[in-house]
Amino acid sequence: MRDDGQVAASLDPADVLAGLDPEQREVACAVRGPVCVLAGAGTGKTRAITSRIGYGVASGAFAPHQVLAVTFTARAAGEMRERLARLGVQVQTRTFHAAALRQLGYFWPRVVGGRLPRLVESKARLVAVGASAAGLRPGQGEVRDLAAEVEWAKVSLAGPDDYERAVTRAGRVPPRPPAEVAAVYAAYERAKRDAGALDFEDLLLLTAAVLDDHRDVTEEVRARYRHFVVDEYQDVNPLQQRLLDAWLGERDDVCVVGDPNQTIYSFTGASPSYLLGFAERFPHATVLRLVRDYRSTPQVVALANRLIGPGRHVGALVAQRPDGPAPTLTEYADEDAEAAAVAERCRVLLAEGVAASQIAVLFRTNGQSETYEQALAAADVPYQLRGGERFFDRPEVREAMLLLRGAARGVGDEPLTAATRHVLAGVGWSPGPPAGGGVARARWESLAALVRLADDQPAATTLEAFVTLLADRAAAQHAPTVEGVTLASLHAAKGLEWDCVFVVGLVEGMVPISYATTPEQVAEERRLLYVGVTRARVRLALSWFRARTAGGRGGRSPSRFLEGLHAGTPAAAAGRGRATGQPRGSRHAGRRGPIPCRVCGRPLSGGVERKLGRCASCPVAVDEALLERLRGWRLAKARELAQPAFCVFTDATLQAIAEARPRDARALLAVPGVGRAKLDRFGADLLALCDGDQGTEDAR
Ligand code: ATP
Ligand code: MG
Repeated sequence: MRDDGQVAASLDPADVLAGLDPEQREVACAVRGPVCVLAGAGTGKTRAITSRIGYGVASGAFAPHQVLAVTFTARAAGEMRERLARLGVQVQTRTFHAAALRQLGYFWPRVVGGRLPRLVESKARLVAVGASAAGLRPGQGEVRDLAAEVEWAKVSLAGPDDYERAVTRAGRVPPRPPAEVAAVYAAYERAKRDAGALDFEDLLLLTAAVLDDHRDVTEEVRARYRHFVVDEYQDVNPLQQRLLDAWLGERDDVCVVGDPNQTIYSFTGASPSYLLGFAERFPHATVLRLVRDYRSTPQVVALANRLIGPGRHVGALVAQRPDGPAPTLTEYADEDAEAAAVAERCRVLLAEGVAASQIAVLFRTNGQSETYEQALAAADVPYQLRGGERFFDRPEVREAMLLLRGAARGVGDEPLTAATRHVLAGVGWSPGPPAGGGVARARWESLAALVRLADDQPAATTLEAFVTLLADRAAAQHAPTVEGVTLASLHAAKGLEWDCVFVVGLVEGMVPISYATTPEQVAEERRLLYVGVTRARVRLALSWFRARTAGGRGGRSPSRFLEGLHAGTPAAAAGRGRATGQPRGSRHAGRRGPIPCRVCGRPLSGGVERKLGRCASCPVAVDEALLERLRGWRLAKARELAQPAFCVFTDATLQAIAEARPRDARALLAVPGVGRAKLDRFGADLLALCDGDQGTEDAR
């Protein structure tokens, strides 16, 4: 195996620890395993374990080439690799699959002979063959379900003969009667063997089996890898755990981090029991907890805490960042109106200077993506799909790499940046994006990402070296950053973060998804929404729609989890909190004592909250379009008066006006922050703006 562990010569352990808080530092300094970090979203788990690797290497506790950091997605592996690179450390950072593929490919010629069989990328075709051999004629959707079921069985370490027992034990509802699924599974395995192929699960199974059975291989691998680190350990499945155990053997130098509240892959066979049972398995383990949330504003954190409730294993998150805007909850007439409004909001954010890569739109199912792709394209907002076709699999990227490889063989001393532009012009790259959106735009964004990557290389890099770099990154599925608003499913958003996050389509049947029926399944859906909201650094916008199609009958209900967001107090739980949280004016006027939040009823603290008349974290139904118009009016007014904008009205007051939508002077005066003087000066303008807006949200 290639010895690729490296470290910058001058890495100082103190520098590695500099950016960590005391608890994170404890994680970083616990260089001897077993170590388990149980912590909530955004508390710096990934940062802490990355620093632990850096510290271990810098202090001499780890030889870099003896470290294996494992993650679940190529994107997460790339992210960790990048963070380590910033520390000047290079260690093996791979997904379970990539690590297994590499090891198996290396040992295969020795233990089996010949080359590693080809890999089955998608099970569907062979499952269809298996189904037909078992006398079934499943439709396309059913083939997918059967393939997923075979996958579940394999990661649960159940063979075709054990399948029925495993299903009963897991209390699982299979897509067909268990005996039929078992028959399809057995036929699938036969068809795969006849085709001389392996699937992804076989990779892990075989690697573990080779490690169990071949002493020389075991010794070589165990001498090579001595320190193991696993991120997102709450989502490890029995098969991955089996491989991790095979790597470890009798040793215990393993550090795992995870958040039980972010377990979102149970349906595929993953289980948080390994994370939660870690200290039992290794009684001498160092168990550390992090609660400080560095990612999100207190407003986002409070909402996240309320959503997930008091956790048994990790405490409530404690926000560290300065205040930000209140999360919003917006109701739309239908899904198209929702998508159009979100796209428009993205356009405005871009116009305000927010980078497209700092915005994400998250949804429950991949099927929702298209509506948003269309809406963003119509608003001329660049976007990229996460969890869609992988960057290096896209036809334009393959084509571009082919051309670059060809060009690298030719002679020429053009600088890399110019040469890349020159070559990629041949596949449709141009200095500016094409007009409109859609496929052409997506294609251009891929090529532009390659151009940017070339621009980021040291000046002396040759085209040949760049081609090698691309091949390496393609092998590791380490995609370059594509500039565009991210469209992603909630699952694909795990571990990532953006300044502005829209979580859309929050209706019953979507979140929780209609087929989540048991309490466990519904709890997993809640965690999925928790993963979504905790991706937001600053702005969080939740939304739902009343009808699926424009002009269609309403009747969709907001997600039950939104209701839970208001259940901060017993009073709210008794029915006062409503998902749409319409402002309730001065219903508490004249009461003594602390002013209660008009949404959840908790006592308010601080000027901003009193101005809003509600907790800063309580989501409200705010008409974004009206708020935008109010902001535009304020800007013009401030210019006219040559005053700073906040002297006209603060953000909190504008927000409160947009929420209250006052229809007359009295209602306007009831908005905290609007006094007599302001009413006289600006009242007419404001009422005209609010009046002009009534009902437009639904009409869009
Ligand atoms: P998740 O559960 O979503 O995977 P996480 O616990 O892995 O989150 P990180 O992604 O490591 O959290 O950190 C969240 C954000 O907070 C990152 O932007 C990170 O750089 C920042 N952060 C973490 N620790 C600190 C710190 N001590 N000081 C400043 N920023 C920090
Ligand atoms: Mg993380």
